Amino acid sequence: MTAGPSGPEENKGQPGLVSAALSGLCPRCGARTLFEGPAQLAETCSVCGLDILSLERGGRFVGILTMLLALVLILAALTTDEWLRPPLWATFLFWGPVTVGSVVFALRFWKTMWVYHQYEESQQP
Ligand SMILES: [Zn+2]
Repeated sequence: MTAGPSGPEENKGQPGLVSAALSGLCPRCGARTLFEGPAQLAETCSVCGLDILSLERGGRFVGILTMLLALVLILAALTTDEWLRPPLWATFLFWGPVTVGSVVFALRFWKTMWVYHQYEESQQP
């Protein structure tokens, strides 16, 4: 895993990974069938029948990623609380959606990346 700066010259054959994650595009047919919930992968593509569930197998880091992200967000929330001392309702109003949104997006992105990677691997004998 590299967390370095992502320059504009980032061309690894996956140009639309972010949009694929956001729209949940199937790696084989490109239909919006990859997710059946906000961060829940579908078992199979309902258009081309791709076995998404078996591609996802092995994506065990997902839980760790979620926990790390939640931890960072909670720490950020606590720090903000120390500095600004906002009213409690404001804290929840702000950090609730931010936390849920970040976790859902991170999960989607991570799972999409994983499934696409696995799909490419499965294409090479
Ligand atoms: Zn498909």
